[in-house]
Amino acid sequence: MFPGRFHYASPRALDEAVELLQKAEGEGKVLAGGQSLIPLLKLRFASPSILVDINNLPGLDYIKVESDGAFRIGALARHGEIERSDDIARLQPTAAAAVPVVADPIVRSRGTLVGSVCHADPQGDWAAVMIALDGSVTAYGPEGKRSIMVKDFVTGPFQNVLSYPEIAIEATIPAPKGDVAGGFLKLERRVGDFATAGAAIGLEFNAGRVSRAGIALTGVGGATVNAEAAAEALMNSSLGSDAVMRAADLAAEASSPKSDHRGSADYKRHIVHTFVRRILAGIATDQERAA
Ligand SMILES: Cc1cc2nc3c(=O)[nH]c(=O)nc-3n(C[C@H](O)[C@H](O)[C@H](O)COP(=O)(O)OP(=O)(O)OC[C@H]3O[C@@H](n4cnc5c(N)ncnc54)[C@H](O)[C@@H]3O)c2cc1C
Repeated sequence: MFPGRFHYASPRALDEAVELLQKAEGEGKVLAGGQSLIPLLKLRFASPSILVDINNLPGLDYIKVESDGAFRIGALARHGEIERSDDIARLQPTAAAAVPVVADPIVRSRGTLVGSVCHADPQGDWAAVMIALDGSVTAYGPEGKRSIMVKDFVTGPFQNVLSYPEIAIEATIPAPKGDVAGGFLKLERRVGDFATAGAAIGLEFNAGRVSRAGIALTGVGGATVNAEAAAEALMNSSLGSDAVMRAADLAAEASSPKSDHRGSADYKRHIVHTFVRRILAGIATDQERAA
């Protein structure tokens, strides 16, 4: 199918982009990597009056690590750039484990982390990663900037809290207060597919005990699942088998998958249980080796 008719603008300044959206009175759409939006246009699931292409906005294509270890990822940083980032590989194990299994190399060369979080696909990978890491999104609009935690940003399937004509300009992973550990596992039917089920875990350790924990799930609910109780079960533990099993049980309970062509609801819940245990067992082994 072909998209409906729309105007196209490629502003060179952020304020101009916001103004163009504002003039469209709710009918405009931001175009970032286009890897989710273009298919939606072709299927006519979206018919905006104008596409505001942000690809020519200066200074949004960065991946920065601050001196305190916080990451700032600009709205035009592509999945592929995150995959090739030495800082991500060295310092951020959850994101480093997730990015090679986001879509395929072609999609990763154009798609953006910020666009993925904005798109809020219940089967998308980045919202789960960012929730597990207590990440946030910075939005820019006529009233200026505001920061929103990703756990509050994604409100439902393909829904976020951006208030039109706000544009998301950055994603942030906060500075760790302890030793960072984490992982991401995803079951896909074939390479490049969306998740049948996936789990993202971000932990921090102090003196061998968990001092911060985040667990989020993809593909197993109407929106990305923030498995808060499962994460809470790990606090102050040294990832002993009881704590790990309790977290896996609670994560499986937090998921609400539907049976479909990718598998039955029971199967997906079982995958969540297995993945949470597997990631945590790997982290526990690394901790023992490092001790
Ligand atoms: C074949 C294929 C396989 C895929 N597989 C996966 C997968 O396995 N896992 C996965 O997570 N994703 C997958 N994706 C989606 C991909 O990751 C997209 O890149 C991502 O979902 C959207 O990022 P984008 O930059 O392409 O956004 P776009 O497609 O440009 O935009 C998506 C939506 O977000 C809005 N938006 C984008 N950026 C902003 C912004 N800065 N401010 C405000 N609104 C914004 C747009 O208006 C639009 O509504 C796949 C896509 C394809 C085509």
